[in-house]
Amino acid sequence: MENTAASQDAARALLAFWRAAGVDMDDAEAVFTARPAAASEARAQNQALPARVPFQIEPPTPKAKPKAKLQPADDAVNTARALAAAASNVAELRAAVEKFEGCALRATARNTVFSDGVESAPILILGDAPRKDEDEQGKPFVGASGQMLDRMLASIGLDRKANVLISNTIFWRPPGDRDPTQGEAVSCLPFVERLIELNQPKLLIVMGKAAANAVLQREDTVMKLRGRKLAYNRGGLKAPVNAMVMLHPAYLLGRPQQKRLAWSDLLFAEAWLEELGVERAAHP
Ligand code: URA
Repeated sequence: MENTAASQDAARALLAFWRAAGVDMDDAEAVFTARPAAASEARAQNQALPARVPFQIEPPTPKAKPKAKLQPADDAVNTARALAAAASNVAELRAAVEKFEGCALRATARNTVFSDGVESAPILILGDAPRKDEDEQGKPFVGASGQMLDRMLASIGLDRKANVLISNTIFWRPPGDRDPTQGEAVSCLPFVERLIELNQPKLLIVMGKAAANAVLQREDTVMKLRGRKLAYNRGGLKAPVNAMVMLHPAYLLGRPQQKRLAWSDLLFAEAWLEELGVERAAHP
């Protein structure tokens, strides 16, 4: 096919189709959207780069939409449970997650993204799944929503370097940032539960619907769950853990008008932490 405007439109449409199907198109798009001269220069410098990247993309083997009820093999869940149970601190749990091969997302991710922050922190924050920046750096919440999260936390005297531990309910980036399947979520859950057991937070903050549904095992929307004192009571806990749900920072990035709701979530967390006697840094 000649490199005409029509062929470029066709290639763009194809890229959009694969992205919607859940395939990670970042690299292909970077080449495609480069100026023609830059793209051919890049090709000349990189023998491994096919001349017509967009047309040579292998069709994905999985179906475009993950099957909602797709379950991992029982073996994977049992292995996850055994590995998680054997970990006696957060560092051992991280090592266990790194060697776990029962979640298919691992095959397409660059890095395992487990946790960041203080391992014995009184506040544990759980998001859903790593995105591109987190996958590249191997740390949760380091991209745009992570920066927003840090600003939100700072406004109530919290800081991942001082009093917060941050993790996710999925430890590998789903291709193209699609939603994780139920099977992928279920295979990671034993590690999430063990993290809560080991950290025994004074307050567990769950961000967004996917994480709230997975951790708290409730199907409600965030709008229904936020602003409520909830309890997490699964696994081998000595006592139920105080839990609350708040809007996910990624949701707020696209909807600045909802920031007032986020602010009320933060005030709710602040008041609860005060009541629980959790020390925080002075803040403006
Ligand atoms: N969103 C999440 O839920 N987790 C991350 O690590 C990054 C973005």
